[in-house]
Amino acid sequence: VFTADVVPQAPEDPLFGLMAAYHRDSSNLKVDLGIGAYRDDQAKPWILPVIKKADERVRNDPNFNHEYLPIAGLSEYCLAAQRLVLGTESPAIKENRVCTFQTISGTGAVHLGALFLSKFHPNQSHTKVYVSNPTWVNHHQIFGNVGWPIAIYPYFSTESKGLDIDGFLGTLKTAPEGSIILLHACAHNPTGVDPTQEQWKQIAAVIIERRHFPFFDTAYQGFASGDLARDGWAIRYFVELGLELCIAQSFAKNFGLYGQRVGAFHFVSAPGAEATGTNRRIFSQLAILQRSEISNPPAYGARIANVVLNDPELFAQWEDDLRTMSGRISDMRKGLRKRLEARGTPGKWNHITDQIGMFSFTGLTEPQVQILREKWHIYMIKNGRISLAGLNSRNLDYVAEAFDDAIR
Ligand code: PMP
Repeated sequence: VFTADVVPQAPEDPLFGLMAAYHRDSSNLKVDLGIGAYRDDQAKPWILPVIKKADERVRNDPNFNHEYLPIAGLSEYCLAAQRLVLGTESPAIKENRVCTFQTISGTGAVHLGALFLSKFHPNQSHTKVYVSNPTWVNHHQIFGNVGWPIAIYPYFSTESKGLDIDGFLGTLKTAPEGSIILLHACAHNPTGVDPTQEQWKQIAAVIIERRHFPFFDTAYQGFASGDLARDGWAIRYFVELGLELCIAQSFAKNFGLYGQRVGAFHFVSAPGAEATGTNRRIFSQLAILQRSEISNPPAYGARIANVVLNDPELFAQWEDDLRTMSGRISDMRKGLRKRLEARGTPGKWNHITDQIGMFSFTGLTEPQVQILREKWHIYMIKNGRISLAGLNSRNLDYVAEAFDDAIR
């Protein structure tokens, strides 16, 4: 029998504990480097100016209402999300090979994909999902929840604080044929380390050779480099090669629509005469899964995103806003590196600016992280990951001084 007594206490989420400790700290020097959302130079959440405009337009639309969306979501939004991730000229779009469902942000998209693969994979118990070491911790939970055995591929080199490409390729080569390979499209979380285009080509070649199935997670398109096409390059390249793959897309970071839960899941099938029929089959099954999981996706945030994605003027303004965010993050990277090098802080600091996106694996050790927290009121995860969004022009000097002290 089931009773509440059989439910054990779960371990505390490390980020949750960190945030609670940060909020309890009454020091006015405290710095939050654990934060997973963009902050402006005043350390405040930032509503993108383009989102304010689009929101007004949605609200003032005389036809606005709170009806349900279709099961697959807002259709113009889904088509715009496809064009954004794959490029307007994508052969996959032209050949009707992309099946898209609006999802509960990126998390929901990863889940829908994991669930879909678990339902239709002919041999789930003997197939593993390979994730990078390390990866966004939720990947383990989401795939695990729907029965996927998980394996890891080497990714971060503690020595260079860059990509361990040899380890990565080596594991792809020895993984059983037909494994599922989870890839971060850009701005890898938590390391900030991305493959170069040359390295992506090597990765794709092994994936083709070993007939692995690529599953892209894209949560930072445009937020990483400020350039939507550049951040979408790897996915577009894989699609150009004719690979069958799926994509979990989040608009949380790049639109700053975190709590609105705006995302999409795309299944891109291989080129071929049967493409339209394949797409119809995939759609029919995803519709059943979506119906049983969420019935239909949340409407408001998707309507806002839809306005921006489909209005050329607002789209151009969005690109400006993306450059504002990625530019500030990049300035913080440069500022931190410059200050540490100026102090002669032991170690090399080029990785701070080589890495990209919201996060950086600093190389700080657990005891150093502890010193930063106890002596300096600076909060970050034990693995030494910092969120660059927590830095600003007022705390950069202080943070650099504290890092220097903790490292010495
Ligand atoms: N994937 C990765 C790698 C992420 O970093 C995030 C955001 N933390 C997500 C997916 C999804 O987040 P959300 O559900 O808020 O879109």
